[in-house]
Amino acid sequence: MSDVRNVIIIGSGPAGYTAALYTARASLKPLVFEGAVTAGGALMNTTEVENFPGFQDGIMGPELMDNMRAQAERFGAELVPDDVVAVDLTGEIKTVTDTAGTVHRAKAVIVATGSQHRKLGLPNEDALSGRGVSWCATCDGFFFKDQDIAVIGGGDTAMEEATFLSRFAKSVTVVHRRDTLRASKAMQERAFADPKISFIWDSEVAEILGDQKLSGLKLRNVKTGKLTDLAVTGLFIAIGHDPRTELFKGQLELDEEGYLKVDSPSTRTNIPGVFGAGDVVDHTYRQAITAAGTGCAAALDAERFLAALA
Ligand code: FAD
Repeated sequence: MSDVRNVIIIGSGPAGYTAALYTARASLKPLVFEGAVTAGGALMNTTEVENFPGFQDGIMGPELMDNMRAQAERFGAELVPDDVVAVDLTGEIKTVTDTAGTVHRAKAVIVATGSQHRKLGLPNEDALSGRGVSWCATCDGFFFKDQDIAVIGGGDTAMEEATFLSRFAKSVTVVHRRDTLRASKAMQERAFADPKISFIWDSEVAEILGDQKLSGLKLRNVKTGKLTDLAVTGLFIAIGHDPRTELFKGQLELDEEGYLKVDSPSTRTNIPGVFGAGDVVDHTYRQAITAAGTGCAAALDAERFLAALA
């Protein structure tokens, strides 16, 4: 079966490119599906990344991803800027179908499709991403020292982001569309006790204001319809993430929120020869470095799996 690859990698964020680098250096000649429009993953949509080790002055997100891509390619990874539209992972030989309908076969597959943060769906949201609008306090909180910040959401993530941001910010305003929080009691109490955090209830963002940079929000009270302005220079949207696992439903085991289940600390899924890495697995850390770390682990797990077949 000469057309059967050793390994196919689905995804081109830090997890996918790191898995590509490691499997390429192990002479496994990986085929990598990068995605048709979002090759490079989530960091293609950001500006400066200051917390990826090895870049003491920081690096722009797209430049970091271009470097990872080039490093994987240098060792022979075959990169395809296309989407995978169907998979059959159940047999010993797994199949992966691209948008042209071509079926690719491999003994091992690494799933590194990431997760999509939920958006508010407002016109200025993408344009001001990295210019005041963020989805990650751990990543960007440091840029907002002594500034007024809004956090949107009412769950655990929103409370965690608000509490974390209050270390840097002048003020943090949590905007929630209901009059009670969904967050756990402990998280709520921490947020309520923080003198820098205040709450605006029953309200949603009607408009994100600003030209080159965020300058404020227009809020709408969902009960009265009344519009008010909130002057902030930071907006953290914390209304959840959707792991990209639609393709794998019915084949790979997913948890109740749709994340890929792995036999942690390994990256093995419920199907032998299929491995999961990065944010598609990770509820908790969601960082470029942790995604790269599990991408490396998935490559090593795949390499050992293939060695045992030989
Ligand atoms: P992703 O980066 O999401 O990549 C997944 C890839 O899979 C994408 O390329 C996508 O095209 C591809 N894919 C999905 N489905 C398919 C398919 N069917 N076929 C083919 N390809 C597919 N982290 C930090 O550590 N520091 C930061 O400063 C930082 N800033 C951030 C700023 C923003 C705006 C965002 C959104 C995130 C930021 N993060 C940061 C988080 C970090 O980007 C993620 O944790 C990391 O990118 C996750 O890597 P991943 O490889 O798991 O997935």
